[in-house]
Amino acid sequence: MSKGFYYAEVVAVEQITKHMVRVTFGGEDVSEYVSIGAPDECVTLFFAREGEDRPPAMTEVDGEWWFHGIEDAPEGRNYTVRRFDADSGRLVIDFVAHEGGVAATWALNATVGQVLLWTRPRSWYNIPATAQWQLLVADMTGLPALGRIIEELPSGAQAHAIVEVLERGDKQEFETAGDVTYDWRFGSGNGDSASVLEDAARQWELPDGEGYIWFAGEAASSRVVRKYFRKELGYPVTRFEIIGYWRANSEQWLEKYKKYQEEALAVYNGALAAGRSQAEASEEFDAMLERVGL
Ligand SMILES: Cc1cc2nc3c(=O)[nH]c(=O)nc-3n(C[C@H](O)[C@H](O)[C@H](O)COP(=O)(O)OP(=O)(O)OC[C@H]3O[C@@H](n4cnc5c(N)ncnc54)[C@H](O)[C@@H]3O)c2cc1C
Repeated sequence: MSKGFYYAEVVAVEQITKHMVRVTFGGEDVSEYVSIGAPDECVTLFFAREGEDRPPAMTEVDGEWWFHGIEDAPEGRNYTVRRFDADSGRLVIDFVAHEGGVAATWALNATVGQVLLWTRPRSWYNIPATAQWQLLVADMTGLPALGRIIEELPSGAQAHAIVEVLERGDKQEFETAGDVTYDWRFGSGNGDSASVLEDAARQWELPDGEGYIWFAGEAASSRVVRKYFRKELGYPVTRFEIIGYWRANSEQWLEKYKKYQEEALAVYNGALAAGRSQAEASEEFDAMLERVGL
């Protein structure tokens, strides 16, 4: 059984592109990290609270690892495991350096020796064995997962990547055994201006044969892209993973969401209880939020 949470110590910090900070973690816990092997593997990082040098430990209650009994639990944010090397016990996370936010501010000031806590990993990317091609669409938050997906493609796998970054200095190169084409978009989305990912995904001519779509970017864009594949093209939920990785103006959105949270969760749980899959329940959850303007 893997550990319920891990402490991780910063061992290196590097600015890899104009707006991306790479932090390498090590330490005793990291060498015990159990990867789930999926290329979009993600952990929730928790940051030390004011005046403390590391987050408090989690405890397990009824199978749930959390900061039980701690009133002001530390802030947590989701990040992709860009790379994990079990032999050296090193784990790499790439942070988008955007303005504001606990995580981005932490990354911009990260120093060797600082300690974070993170949870067990989760993942979504799940390409059916029958898929003949894949379309990968990401903004800068999805770039670490997109990079890992491309690097881990089996020989000859066909993929087209549409990536939106802030500027040319944010472009990255990936080594791959796959057969990959790229469409880099510069200077849009990413909190700077409107995203062009929705249009770019729509304009790409879909190849013949069964395909798989993976999208990671801003939540409102993800909704538009999901509707295109699901409603306009009639894709079944097994043929895409279209995920909101962050939300523009999240403070205002969260304020409004609090009013509808209970109702939305009831819709989600009701759908699961009625035998629908998690993906279908998420669709009903999202449709309910859209009806109330969220
Ligand atoms: C599965 C998953 C994997 C992810 N992997 C990564 C990853 O590897 N690297 C990565 O950098 N991010 C990743 N993200 C996105 C990251 O969790 C969010 O961007 C998160 O909101 C950042 O937290 P923060 O504390 O910096 O900002 P928050 O406190 O959440 O937000 C502060 C303000 O910044 C805005 N904001 C948040 N993120 C961005 C952004 N990227 N650009 C511009 N404005 C922003 C918000 O709207 C808000 O106004 C991932 C998300 C998910 C769900």
